[in-house]
Amino acid sequence: MDSLRPPRPELESLVPYDVKDVRADIMLASNENPLNLPGELLEKLADLAARIPYNRYPDPLSNPLREKIAEANGLEPGNVLVGNGGDELIFDLLLAWGGPGRTLIDLPPTFAMYGIDAEMTGTTVVSLPRREDFSIDGEALLERLKPGDIDIVMIANPNNPTGTLAAETLLIDVLNATDALVLVDEAYFEFSRHTMRPHMSRHRNLVILRTFSKAFSLAGLRAGYLLAHEDVIMELTKVRQPYSVNRFTQVAASLVFRERPVFEAGISQLLRQRDMIVCGLEALPGVTVYPTEANFVLFKVAHASAVWRDLLHEHSVLIRDFSRAPGLEDCLRVSVGTEAEVVRFLGAMDEIISRRHASDLFGIAATAQRHLKEGE
Ligand SMILES: *Cc1c(COP(=O)(O)O)cnc(C)c1O
Repeated sequence: MDSLRPPRPELESLVPYDVKDVRADIMLASNENPLNLPGELLEKLADLAARIPYNRYPDPLSNPLREKIAEANGLEPGNVLVGNGGDELIFDLLLAWGGPGRTLIDLPPTFAMYGIDAEMTGTTVVSLPRREDFSIDGEALLERLKPGDIDIVMIANPNNPTGTLAAETLLIDVLNATDALVLVDEAYFEFSRHTMRPHMSRHRNLVILRTFSKAFSLAGLRAGYLLAHEDVIMELTKVRQPYSVNRFTQVAASLVFRERPVFEAGISQLLRQRDMIVCGLEALPGVTVYPTEANFVLFKVAHASAVWRDLLHEHSVLIRDFSRAPGLEDCLRVSVGTEAEVVRFLGAMDEIISRRHASDLFGIAATAQRHLKEGE
């Protein structure tokens, strides 16, 4: 037979995740660390890699790594789960706490994977849009938790793509108001330095997500982890793919975690370069910059899609276009790069905005002149 039975009807409304493999000289679209691992770590990793028994399946629970992570966080290994990137763990959470007949609260605009994974797992999504300044509508959220029918809440903190940090008091109010599993996604913790970790002892429904993809230069290897009550981890081990974190990734992530003080200077530098971006964009006419606690900056500009295209085609600078996403009209997000990349991005923006401004002024002048003539 040369025909194909359709897949699950739920897939009809889904579009593939934006994996456009666009290349540019300056890649500022995915919130990665702009620098590869430091040379000394690359050398150590090469040594370690030569001694891995690649013919054997990996340790399903990445035990040496989870022990290190647990110890650093004052927890037991049973409170830690390592995944193939944070994305896999988000999916596992929805496999275990979501599903048909179960409900997720999503706080858009936010990380798209929450909604996508909910749809894939047949989980009902209740969307509570953020306010105009992208803060969480705390009243609406607490009100919606009251009936007690919510199974899971996902909160990116700081939020991606807006950079917004939630008030800790609100997160505590949420934890007090519900027995739903509350994921606080701290993918940008190393930049914000805000964590809900101290509240784990009083709230067994609190789950914290971290990743090696952003501050720690390992986006290409896929490693993330959860901190949670041991009962939560136990349930997740029922649904997860047992060998999802390969041996090489386990070794690399262990090395990076052990040596993480090496990244501190680079993180401070990225924060200074973020401030350069904020100041540089604020100086441009017609650009609104949103406050950020992460390694990216969201800003609003007229004709955002055209600006995005000019950055790519005329300056080979790739950033992320959110202008068609609900609640993010005319918004673009730029990740913090090296100093040289930031200078190139700002130079390109200056050029594009000045030209648009000049042609706008020209347009106004031409219209005025026409009106004058018509009045003659
Ligand atoms: C990047 C990111 C993640 C996880 O990324 P992985 O590369 O899958 O570890 C999770 N949540 C948010 C909000 C992110 O921005």
